[in-house]
Amino acid sequence: MKILVTGGAGFIGSAVVRHIIENTADEVMVVDCLTYAGNLESLAPVANDPRYAFSRIDITDSKSVNEIFASYQPDIVMHLAAESHVDRSIDGPAAFIQTNVMGTFVLLEAARSYYASLNDERKAAFRFHHISTDEVYGDLHGTDDLFTEETPYAPSSPYSASKAASDHLVRAWNRTYKLPTVLTNCSNNYGPYHFPEKLIPLIILNALAGKPLPVYGDGKQVRDWLYVEDHARALYKVATEGKIGETYNIGGHNERKNIDVVKTICNILDEIVADKPGNIASFADLITYVTDRPGHDMRYAIDATKIQKELGWVPEETFESGIEKTVHWYLNNKEWWQRVQDGSYAGERLGLNK
Ligand code: NAD
Repeated sequence: MKILVTGGAGFIGSAVVRHIIENTADEVMVVDCLTYAGNLESLAPVANDPRYAFSRIDITDSKSVNEIFASYQPDIVMHLAAESHVDRSIDGPAAFIQTNVMGTFVLLEAARSYYASLNDERKAAFRFHHISTDEVYGDLHGTDDLFTEETPYAPSSPYSASKAASDHLVRAWNRTYKLPTVLTNCSNNYGPYHFPEKLIPLIILNALAGKPLPVYGDGKQVRDWLYVEDHARALYKVATEGKIGETYNIGGHNERKNIDVVKTICNILDEIVADKPGNIASFADLITYVTDRPGHDMRYAIDATKIQKELGWVPEETFESGIEKTVHWYLNNKEWWQRVQDGSYAGERLGLNK
């Protein structure tokens, strides 16, 4: 199969591409415009494979998007390209509306006209898989509540509102135009190649540098953590085996308070890093509480029963095994994150961006 992956140079997209090239016989075309979050070095492990190709395209550019559909002739589209950082969406929401809403609209329209051009056999095989977040459901206050596929949408931030809008567009294109779509909503991911602005890599790298470890508010916000490679396996399963028009929630069954995530990282680092920076006895000494994020959701938790029952997917990593692997990955891959930190990685800082 030929799979077109938008946002394939990002954190989750690159994990999906590595998964497909390393574990299947399929071909991949990455479509990514390389914003600050796009990093071709995250695709280095598969970059020389003849089944891998890259095309630098902004998904809001409908001419280029239509051209890549016509020239590549994909069997499946996996749409991950997005602006993804909540804090950035609060500071500047325009890019989120542009990429997440307009970009999804452009892709759906390109997919619709491409789909119309296919013969019946290829039509029957075609899928448009939209990758979204559990943040579209808003937050939970009871300790036992879980997000199911039927939970009403109640997004809190410009990021989650833009993702909710894109989900609605995808469902409408399925219902109105019979475009064969599948949709997934996933909890917080973590793991290798995660951009250092996000909580887990930020804490690991600040700790190694002896910098304060910022924790929003009282740190009691609960997130359900999923190891990114488990997510990549789930996404491939839904793209290839999911039922048309359906939504699947994906979660790790790993709910943790943010403060406990930070303390777990500190404990792992205390055990493996002999030379601690400054005069600290434990990395936990660096924990610093900072003013809470406006509109901060209290708790997210996913009920992933449907994907387990219908597609047989369960995560392989527990939070403990996944976070241990992640900390070791950052310790063993300094070059990757140092090149992100100094701006020399293959993203927009190279001046490649339009
Ligand atoms: P990311 O920010 O790491 O990567 C996004 C990628 O999209 C980057 O490579 C960027 O260059 C590209 N991109 C952005 N705007 C583009 C545009 N206009 N045209 C082409 N490419 C563009 O994001 P991520 O964490 O890998 O998330 C991927 C998807 O998964 C997003 O849709 C996000 O909403 C969703 N998601 C993320 C999480 C999470 O925990 N990170 C959880 C659930 C769902």
